[in-house]
Formats: sequence, C-alpha cells, structure tokens
Amino acid sequence: MDMKQYIEDAEQALLHTYNRYQIVLDKGEDVYLYDLEGKKYLDFCAGIAVFALGYHNDKYNDALKAQIDKVIHTSNYYYNVPAIEAAKKLKKVSGMDRVFFTNSGAEAVEGAIKAARKYAYLKDGCTDHEIIAMEHSFHGRTMGALSVTGNPKYREAFEPMIGNIRFAKLNDFDSVLENVTDKTCAILFETVQGEGGIYPADESFMRQVKALCEEKDILLILDEIQCGMGRTGYMFAWQKYGVKPDIMVAAKALGCGVPVGAFLMTEKTAQHSLTSGDHGTTYGGNPLAAAAINIVLDLFEENHIIDNVKEMGVYLEKTLDKLVAEYDCVVARRGAGLMQGLAFNRPVGEIINKALDKGLLLVSAGTDVIRFVPPLIIRKDNIDDMAAILRACLAEF
Ligand SMILES: *Cc1c(COP(=O)(O)O)cnc(C)c1O
Repeated sequence: MDMKQYIEDAEQALLHTYNRYQIVLDKGEDVYLYDLEGKKYLDFCAGIAVFALGYHNDKYNDALKAQIDKVIHTSNYYYNVPAIEAAKKLKKVSGMDRVFFTNSGAEAVEGAIKAARKYAYLKDGCTDHEIIAMEHSFHGRTMGALSVTGNPKYREAFEPMIGNIRFAKLNDFDSVLENVTDKTCAILFETVQGEGGIYPADESFMRQVKALCEEKDILLILDEIQCGMGRTGYMFAWQKYGVKPDIMVAAKALGCGVPVGAFLMTEKTAQHSLTSGDHGTTYGGNPLAAAAINIVLDLFEENHIIDNVKEMGVYLEKTLDKLVAEYDCVVARRGAGLMQGLAFNRPVGEIINKALDKGLLLVSAGTDVIRFVPPLIIRKDNIDDMAAILRACLAEF
C-alpha cells in the first residue's frame, strides 16, 4: 500500500482530533526519521521533546527487548525490580524523595493535583481548596490537567472544569499575590512554558513564589514534563536556580518513547498527602515502562547527554539569534538549552509545511512560534543543516 492510501485509510479510521502532516513516518536512525517512501527528515521535533537519545539506539532497544523476554507487566500489587531501580535513580537525579509512576504526563499532573488537595484536606478537613495555575500554560488533556491549563480554547467546550482554579501570569509575582487566598493549596507552573510559546520562568519569580509557598504552607508544583530530563542543560530546569518544588511532574523524555510519566514529592509532602488506597494505576511503573526509564537514565549518564545539551544549546541559541537579526519576520528567540522558540510576526504553519517538504521536522508552540526541541544528542552539523533549510524556507516569503 502506498503512503497516500495509508493516509486515506487513516482519515477513515481515526478520530479527527489532529490536522496531521501528510506523511507516514516509518523508521528512525540517529536524528533522522524516514517516511514510507524513504524520504529522510532531520528531526527537530523529537516526538515533541520525547526522543532525547535519538532513534535506533541499540542499548535502549536491547534493554527493552530483554525486559520483554522476561516479563512485561505484573501489577502494582507486587514489587518489581525495574520499578525499584528506576525510582532510586530518579530520586538521585531529582533530589526528590518519593516517586509515583504514571503512563503519561497528564496523569502525572492529575496525581499532583490530588496530592495537593489531600495535603490541604489533612490540615483543615475542608474540601474547598484552590490551586493557582498560569495563563498560557499547558498541563495535558484530561479533565484535571485541562482545568489547570491556561488556554480557554482547549477548555471551553468541556466545561465545567474541576473547581477552584485561579490563573495568574508567569513571571508576574503580583498577579500571583492577587490570587492567593487562605484556601490556596498549591501554585503550579511549568518551569519553562512549552506549548504556550517557550517562556522560561525567571529566577526572581521562582524565588518569590517559593518564599510565598514556604510562608503560607502552600505546595509548589513544577511541571517538568517538557523542560525536564536534561533539555535545558540541567536534569530538571528548576535545578538551575535551586528552587526546589514540593511536587514535580515528569514524562515525555523520561521513557524516550515508552509511555511513562511520574510525579515526585518531598518526604514532608509525602508524609502528609496520598496514602494507601488514595491513588492507583494498572500500568504505571510496570516492568517494561520502568526498564525504559532505567536505560534512559543510564544512557544520560554514560553518554554525557547534559554536557552535550549545554554545548549545543549555546550553539542553537547563536544560530537562532542570527535568524532574528537577518529576517524582519523573526521577532524574538526565547528558551533554554535545547528548548528554544523563534517568535514570528505571523502564523508559522506555512513555514513548518515548507520545512517538511525540504526534509526538516519542526513543531509550533501556539500559532506564531516555532519550537525547537531536537533529540538531545544533536550535533553542530545538524543545527547548521536545520538553519540552512529554515533559511531556504524564509527566503521564499
Ligand atoms: C506534553 C505535556 C503535558 C501532557 O503530557 P501527556 O503525556 O501528553 O499527557 C503536560 N505538561 C507539559 C508541560 C507538557 O509539555
């Protein structure tokens, strides 16, 4: 069957929740993906900041194959070695104390919300606590995660949301203060906003929010689903300023393609929140998923992934800054490490389509921003190739 036929079949069989690009991807190698016709694409999307280690990584693949031959799934009623090892490693790299494994980012956010509500409930026995989230945030598509997502477009048709959510502005501490009440149980934000247009939280905002949380016994929840796992040059983006959350959520690159997520908390939070019977999952942290987390964390260390991000992040910034200087339609660059955004003075859909034709996969963040979230093993020549293709696209305007 040819690619066009597959796409027609897809349009008949799949629910129409995505405007997909008109290619069927078939296989990957290093930082490249190939479609069914064998066309090669340089991948600056990485499955939306997921495939950090590059495609067809032998060690990663072998670890998964070995686990498949042992056992794929048991149940959280029993212990399994991969999950124990993964939790220990994740504690070590995050400095957090306790881990709950989920199957996705949204589920990790759900768990964080439940933990925060339980924490507040144990203090006063009330069930009217509030969470402050940020405008332009993105936390996932399930009802709880959607309720804290600061984009009315995603929420509108699905009202009512879970109650008692207020929205403040990232990097505007006064807007947080305006929303704090004696019912506030948590303040939640992405350390670097992804979907909303690549906006890093700044140091003073993080410190001020942290101090407020400590003063009022409010939990700080940081969403590191996209910006975590080395992407900004730190294992988790908050580590740059040392502003440690009470609860942290991770996913995306955590499993490098195997669907996993996690919410983690400090011991103090854990002692006063979710307990036996409060939360559960059939698949979360099953042996196969946990084997993925283990090999990902091993390979991050073995391959010095974060060192590469630090070096290539600087090079990517320089490369993108040149584009800002050269083209009137490119108005700004923002980001950290290998999580960068180029803001345009127009919608970027057409540019992304042209790039696809020329063999470069890009993804937007909102309508006017191109987001650059390549595999973390990217090299200078890949960045040069990306810039050359992007220039060719921009020249056609
Ligand atoms: C992708 C993402 C989510 C949702 O993760 P899913 O695995 O798609 O449910 C939540 N928060 C942030 C910051 C994300 O980038």
